[in-house]
Amino acid sequence: TYVVTENCIACKYTDCVEVCPVDCFYEGENTLVIHPDECIDCGVCEPECPADAIRPDTEADMDKWVEFNRKYSEMW
Ligand code: SF4
Repeated sequence: TYVVTENCIACKYTDCVEVCPVDCFYEGENTLVIHPDECIDCGVCEPECPADAIRPDTEADMDKWVEFNRKYSEMW
């Protein structure tokens, strides 16, 4: 899965939401988040993010961000 990380805080862009083929972005408290079970790992959103906030969970130390994205995407 891909996850939204700290650079998204207070970001005003939604380019990522528009390109996601499965609509798995949700509004968090002060970031967008990606639902980890709905993301199909296509990678289309990553280059669209002007803040470079979207990262694959295969990078180091992403566990906390996966949990962050899960928490806020299931909150509402
Ligand atoms: Fe959506 Fe693809 Fe980005 Fe996952 S990787 S959030 S499916 S655009």
